[in-house]
Amino acid sequence: MNTITRYLKSLMLLELGKGAAVTLRYFFEPKFTIHYPEEKTPKSNRFRGLHALRRYPNGEERCIACKLCEAVCPALAITIDSTQHEDGTRRTTRYEIDLFKCVFCGLCEESCPVDAIVETGILEYHFENRGENILTKEQLLAIGDRYEETIAANLRQDAAYR
Ligand code: SF4
Ligand code: SF4
Repeated sequence: MNTITRYLKSLMLLELGKGAAVTLRYFFEPKFTIHYPEEKTPKSNRFRGLHALRRYPNGEERCIACKLCEAVCPALAITIDSTQHEDGTRRTTRYEIDLFKCVFCGLCEESCPVDAIVETGILEYHFENRGENILTKEQLLAIGDRYEETIAANLRQDAAYR
């Protein structure tokens, strides 16, 4: 019986008619297409994009080379080398993030006791050469310097929600 029904339905092209009806219905509805990059969709303040290392207002690096971010990173994307200064403070000599490994989970940012490593809202970046996927300490600090105002404002807003 089922076979006969299916056969009759296929003869009447019912499925085709249903598909055409759906197409026709959406043809007159408002379009969802966004003409990127001229048009952009709204982005949450908590979006996790490109990383940055921050400094204090006096220019001193915030990072104290505690390596918590390196330890907590589930993708093993962070590599840190450090040294101890004469005054007893620790500073990184190397801080790298491999963006091919990173899963943008935000755990590095959550674990940092001094808000040094953060994830910005930057999502528009690309690589042209092999090895550019590895962000160096200098690059991370430069991103931090450039976007500090926005980063600090987002962190203040986050703190207000907590
Ligand atoms: S966002 Fe997650 S995966 Fe990426 S570096 Fe930080 S802890 Fe590692
Ligand atoms: S970025 Fe933060 S968590 Fe990572 S080593 Fe520096 S101070 Fe520690």
